[in-house]
Amino acid sequence: MKALVYHGPGNKSWEEKPKPVLKEQTDAIVKILKTTICGTDLHIMKGDVPTVADGRIIGHEGVGIVEEAGSSVTNFKKGDHVLLSCITSCGKCEYCKKAMYSHCEKGGWILGNLIDGTQAEYVRIPYADNSMYRIPAGADEEALVMLSDILPTGFECGVLNGQVKPGDTIAIIGAGPIGLAVLLTAQFFTPAAIIMIDQDENRLAVAKSLGATHTINSANENAIEMVMSFTNKKGVDVAIEAVGVAATFELCEEIVTAGGHIANIGVHGKSVTLHMETLWSRNITITTRLVDTVTTPMLFKTVQSNKLDPKKLITHHFKLDQVIEAYDTFEHAANEKALKVILTA
Ligand SMILES: [Zn+2]
Ligand SMILES: [Zn+2]
Repeated sequence: MKALVYHGPGNKSWEEKPKPVLKEQTDAIVKILKTTICGTDLHIMKGDVPTVADGRIIGHEGVGIVEEAGSSVTNFKKGDHVLLSCITSCGKCEYCKKAMYSHCEKGGWILGNLIDGTQAEYVRIPYADNSMYRIPAGADEEALVMLSDILPTGFECGVLNGQVKPGDTIAIIGAGPIGLAVLLTAQFFTPAAIIMIDQDENRLAVAKSLGATHTINSANENAIEMVMSFTNKKGVDVAIEAVGVAATFELCEEIVTAGGHIANIGVHGKSVTLHMETLWSRNITITTRLVDTVTTPMLFKTVQSNKLDPKKLITHHFKLDQVIEAYDTFEHAANEKALKVILTA
């Protein structure tokens, strides 16, 4: 089969690899129908994720058809259409029993990281019963690709951890796919104002069309001053960090109101300064987490009932064998006006 293979920083190729086979009877082999590229994959390609070895097939999102299911897989059979979770979970270990699938002792984020991933014609999914979701006939499978990672990540790490409530004023720093997933799912809770902060005018325009009440281009506007002017100098109830650099996290520290929440989503490669000299007395809660994907079934229902339209995040389409071209587009997201790209087998 063909697959997108990582060969060290800056090197990748679309090449022939052996078709995966069952290793355990809890595995399933899935033929990929649609997949996508995540910002995390770009970090991998730059060499920022040292757990990814040379020769690894990348990708942790997608939908497909079960090609073969191990004898212990009871929820799925050959021919079933399935949504693949970015998080693999056994369902049995101490962390899984706490619904912290991201820290599953036998899984977690392993797909396209410690084991071969979804940017391929076929993928092996361990613990298939707990790591895939059945797709009913007639569902919009392209929209569902957004449920493998970005929607549960935005919702769980941003909206739920940030405890967004009706009437809140929230700020989302970073209007990439994850920040926009926060924007879409925060609206379940009817916040009074949603301030989107980014340096890309196109992404801010998209945010406005998806429900942001205010946008700030921090490349040429003073984000702190503008947030304070929008909030009667109080700051925001919830500041959600969706970039993963020190400056954006420290911006959250500056704009959060007393009693507020800072919910971090971004993948941080470097330390940030925690300004305890100003925050110690302000009743602030700071949260971090990995996505557990425990909200995926709920999000699935909201997509099926047209309460949530994640297709709005899809900007580009490619055939699966055009994956190198798709990476090129996604890497130049600002010039290409790219959000999520869909690769179809
Ligand atoms: Zn991802
Ligand atoms: Zn587990």
